[in-house]
Amino acid sequence: MTLDPVLARIDADLEAATDRLLRLLRIPSISTDPAHRADCRAAAEWLVEDLRSIGFENAALRDTPGHPMVTGGMGDGGPHLLFYGHYDVQPADPLELWKAPPFEPSLEETPAGRVIRGRGASDDKGQLMTFVEACRAWVAVHGALPARVSILFEGEEESGSPSLVPFLRDHAEELKADLALICDTGLFDRDTPAITTMLRGLVGEEIVITGPDRDLHSGAYGGPAVNPIKVLARIISALHDDHGRVTLPGFYDGVPEITPELRAQWESLGFDEGAFLGGVGLSHPAGEADRTALEMIWARPTCEVNGISGGYAGAGFKTVLPSQACAKISFRLVGAQDPEKIRDAFRAHVRSMLPPDCSVAFHGHGAAPASVMATDDPAFETARQALSAEWPNPAAFVAPAVRSRSRATSRPSWRWIRCW
Ligand SMILES: [Zn+2]
Repeated sequence: MTLDPVLARIDADLEAATDRLLRLLRIPSISTDPAHRADCRAAAEWLVEDLRSIGFENAALRDTPGHPMVTGGMGDGGPHLLFYGHYDVQPADPLELWKAPPFEPSLEETPAGRVIRGRGASDDKGQLMTFVEACRAWVAVHGALPARVSILFEGEEESGSPSLVPFLRDHAEELKADLALICDTGLFDRDTPAITTMLRGLVGEEIVITGPDRDLHSGAYGGPAVNPIKVLARIISALHDDHGRVTLPGFYDGVPEITPELRAQWESLGFDEGAFLGGVGLSHPAGEADRTALEMIWARPTCEVNGISGGYAGAGFKTVLPSQACAKISFRLVGAQDPEKIRDAFRAHVRSMLPPDCSVAFHGHGAAPASVMATDDPAFETARQALSAEWPNPAAFVAPAVRSRSRATSRPSWRWIRCW
């Protein structure tokens, strides 16, 4: 067998591999804090050296306007795989809540098993090193990798990745691959690995409705003068029907139904809706009446009001009839929903409900379509089988960002994307 001796090698090398990870974890590579700029560079340099020691002879630190990228490539023949990870971490504040210093990582025995405690252990240095260690073991046993592998580590993921897209554009030829493997997500729970196959998109809108040209006294003008807060409330309440569906015309265009196979897979996960809502003090599911909570979070589009302001909301009381009312509203998108069409439909909805004497100003806050992986690509089944072989439960195809409090975990998992 080709794989068995590699797995045996990884087991035999576990202590040294853990030591390497601990060394990387000790570098406080906080990307958002300028005081840690040199530390970010040190983490990148450490990775370059480690990759070179495996056989990535061309491993290099690549400068960007922000923190450097780390790249390296090895192997030829077979599919071209691109592996992405990030070596930067979030700030460790508030420090007083850490039982041990965040950059002095340690192994700890817990009721759930042995864990590594330290900033970045589960996001994303631990995941990143699993791939590096896999390459190390494969090369040690077989002398070469079974496929062409390119590595891309960035140091700005926790601060918005400003250099990532320009770097990808500038080096598209070098980095173009058949498959990209992103290891920056979580397991579904401690026994169930997950492969993230879809990410919802987002549209953000801010609206300011203006009525009278100044704040008025409600005793003097209440009644004849239009109240922008009342107008805004009507507009917002008309965004959903009684069944929790969004009413904007065309909103559900391009929203796919999940396949029966995926539905069955999700049902088998045993997601505890009661615990999920109970964890935040709720007990009755809102939203689309005929959808499960998991489906709504992973596979359904939503419209949420994120903030609303206007008039007087300070201490005491003031009988003002305000000139303006504002709201921030966001839409999560799935499938092939078009962010710009949704923005247009929302703005048309607002305008259509605007009474005489009122005007509206719109401020767009970003628009990104959803991404949905082509899970019929054989790579997904290969990945699913490989992960299933290592954990008690089979791997599930999921969308990210759901944590049932009772089942939360931050151990690493994988997300595959298909590169076109
Ligand atoms: Zn991350």
